[in-house]
Amino acid sequence: MSKSTDELFKNVISHAKEYGFVFPSSEIYDGLSAVYDYGQNGAELKNNIKTYWWKAMVQMNENIVGIDSAIFMHPKIWKASGHVDGFSDPMIDNKDSKKRYRADQLLEDKIERYSKDGKTDKAEKLQADMDAALNAEDLPRLRELIIEHEIACPVSGTRNWTEVRQFNLMFSTQMGAVADDADTIYLRPETAQGIFVNYLNVQKSGRMKIPFGIAQIGKAFRNEVIARQFIIRMREFEQMEMQFFVRPGTQKEWFDKWKEARLKWHLALGTDEAKYRYHEHTKLAHYADAAYDIEFEFPFGFKEVEGIHSRTNFDLSQHEKFSGKKMQYFDPEVDPETGKPYGNYVPYVIETSIGLDRMFLLTMINAYEEEDLSTDEKQDSRTVLRLHPCLAPVKAAIFPLTKKDGLPEKAREIMDKLKIDFNIQYEEKDAIGKRYRRQDAIGTPFCITVDHQTLEDNTVTIRHRDSMAQERVAADQLDKIIGDLVSW
Ligand code: ATP
Repeated sequence: MSKSTDELFKNVISHAKEYGFVFPSSEIYDGLSAVYDYGQNGAELKNNIKTYWWKAMVQMNENIVGIDSAIFMHPKIWKASGHVDGFSDPMIDNKDSKKRYRADQLLEDKIERYSKDGKTDKAEKLQADMDAALNAEDLPRLRELIIEHEIACPVSGTRNWTEVRQFNLMFSTQMGAVADDADTIYLRPETAQGIFVNYLNVQKSGRMKIPFGIAQIGKAFRNEVIARQFIIRMREFEQMEMQFFVRPGTQKEWFDKWKEARLKWHLALGTDEAKYRYHEHTKLAHYADAAYDIEFEFPFGFKEVEGIHSRTNFDLSQHEKFSGKKMQYFDPEVDPETGKPYGNYVPYVIETSIGLDRMFLLTMINAYEEEDLSTDEKQDSRTVLRLHPCLAPVKAAIFPLTKKDGLPEKAREIMDKLKIDFNIQYEEKDAIGKRYRRQDAIGTPFCITVDHQTLEDNTVTIRHRDSMAQERVAADQLDKIIGDLVSW
């Protein structure tokens, strides 16, 4: 990470805290590793991102519906899905510092260091060796590579490593009063399984016809071995997932459609296209027949934000096997080749899965700007969040110019009308310039000032966040001006 991007990232993190977007969890107790809380502005921004996704997926598509399934689920679900046996990362401990690391992460860091030092051959060789070891799930080989490449513990500086073990990422807890094995349940590590186990309920009660989708937004939990990069890798996070059920044989066509549609969703927010790229998975999970990530260029490099996966009929077939319940769909449509209905089958699934917290961070980083406003006469600057207006936590702020002469009452009267439709903030403290700066820092698109003239002709000054231009408008036009800009 170059110094300036490193600094930018640090500044975004401290800005997020200072302005009530993201706080470390349990901060007065020195925090809880890789867990974060969203503050008053963060909660609004997060809700707006959810709404943007929900509208694009559920409201705009007649054949997609949304559900909200429970976090606790029957433990057999995680057996069937493969998570109990296979959802793990290779872990290694340093015997001196007692610190725990992901073996693949240590190797990746080394590869990065080789690349930075211009040792391209070494970097490529290690990458190939590591991929081979991971593919073969050869844990002793991962350790050998760590030793061979003289990787030392970042804390103790020693190379005194334990064996590499698989570490399951699921959190477990006990249900009911008696703690015995049968009662062990898991906090879901993804929201997708809640959709699969409800697929028949939704299909029947909604009389859904293939192709159709089920969407869900909700919390997921992973006991990540190492926590890194702020809200990129958390132990409690939120996902927005959609499973799209299709006729076998049509999955490629639908995969391509969703891959394109999801990138469009990102770009519709006005983000620079060059900041995004697709990453194709070369190593596919055994049940998948295609997988792409949508990656965004964060200050610390390109990182996955969303995955689009063609999951075949693996999940539904597994649930059929483990639950003993039929997961078949009867397709009455006639196959032009045979002249007969397609009949019974277990649908294939295309999944789109985006991390809400990563999307949140992407949005903050993208919007954050330290703008130099200096002129010949004086030095000046502001920090502004150039958020898309529909995502902005506060849509407009209302300022009485002074705290007297009936201006606060007039300002509140205007606010009371607007707040029915928009999130509005009232501020009367400090000079107007200072109030503008505070609203710029949380990304408020409009500031409205009520002054003495307002009392005479019911006009106000409206100031635009991005251009800082001001204009005089009739107060009863505000509804439309704000609505036009912040509508979805
Ligand atoms: P990574 O390789 O970065 O660990 P993943 O491939 O395990 O991610 P998926 O299982 O495909 O991720 O989950 C879908 C999405 O959920 C990811 O694209 C990411 O945005 C988000 N996500 C996954 N793990 C975390 C986490 N620990 N914290 C925050 N978001 C996460």
